[in-house]
Amino acid sequence: MAEKRDYYEVLGVSKTATADEIKKAYRSLVKKYHPDVSTEPKDVAEAKFKEISEAYEVLSDPEKRSLYDQYGHAGVDGSFGAGVGGFGGFGRGSRPNAPRQGDSLRYDLEIDMLDVLNGKEVPITVKHTVSCPDCNGTGGKGGKTQQCPACNGQGQRQEMRRTMFGNTISVSECPRCNGSGKIPVDTCTRCNGRGRINKDSKVAINIPKGIEDGMRIRVGGAGDAGYNGGPAGDLYVVVHVKEHRNFERDGADLWMKCDVSYPKLVLGGSITISTIEGKSVEINIAPGTQVDSVLKVPGQGLPEMRHTTRGNLYVRLGVVIPKKTTAEEKELLMKLDANAGKKTTSKKKGLFK
Ligand SMILES: [Zn+2]
Ligand SMILES: [Zn+2]
Repeated sequence: MAEKRDYYEVLGVSKTATADEIKKAYRSLVKKYHPDVSTEPKDVAEAKFKEISEAYEVLSDPEKRSLYDQYGHAGVDGSFGAGVGGFGGFGRGSRPNAPRQGDSLRYDLEIDMLDVLNGKEVPITVKHTVSCPDCNGTGGKGGKTQQCPACNGQGQRQEMRRTMFGNTISVSECPRCNGSGKIPVDTCTRCNGRGRINKDSKVAINIPKGIEDGMRIRVGGAGDAGYNGGPAGDLYVVVHVKEHRNFERDGADLWMKCDVSYPKLVLGGSITISTIEGKSVEINIAPGTQVDSVLKVPGQGLPEMRHTTRGNLYVRLGVVIPKKTTAEEKELLMKLDANAGKKTTSKKKGLFK
């Protein structure tokens, strides 16, 4: 069971942060995770947004902040009450033996730029836990259970604690039955009473065309087994797009470099480039084209996500400088340089006029 994260950690500020710093951190996180604007999957954004709001509510209130600094979450939990559990998911603490969703898992998947172009179905193997089929997730042989004697089937343990507000009762999960209120009559031998077993499952991941590096694909229910009969967690596949030898990516656009001879830049002509699909495309170079000019090949970029359109391919022109020259070439180049030199000088004179 995941512990509640530290509020300072949630907002990414230090324990000594000023009210202003806290407000700033909160605002920038809201921009990123508000469910209406976030690029994260909806349920992740919602959970994150809830966590951020809760942290801000406490840390922005000097009184609550000081209680939190002294007593941690226990000092301020009362201020949220049922509201926290009501935000979807299952409330923790109030009903420990209630069904609870299993943990979510992360899987890092590397794909090629061509997979971004064409989309792909990638089979992966997920190492996760599933409900033990022998005992139906109960941990008891044949699925037979009895009431937990440690908590009389309540699933929780109550403890008195002394705080500055007087005695408070803290409720925690019964360690004997893990909050389920039931223990097996005989331990299931397949799962050793855990109620869950490790399993390698094959899952087919659908890579949509145009996916961006770092995007996550959610596979509902492919995470770890749930608790007390709750649903399984989700699997988040984080997609990493490998760099391409010839192309650099900018969203749906692609960029490439192409070196052209000096005479071609001066006199104009055409070059043939190869697109990401390996298609040859002839592009024209106008006379007097400068080094570093960018030519556009429309529609030869990557697909735009959730659209049928494609980005463009941009070709940045460089110049080929030969390392060796023949005597004839040398003579021509020197003649050229003599002429070019005159032009440069006259231009400079103009500049300093
Ligand atoms: Zn079992
Ligand atoms: Zn118990």
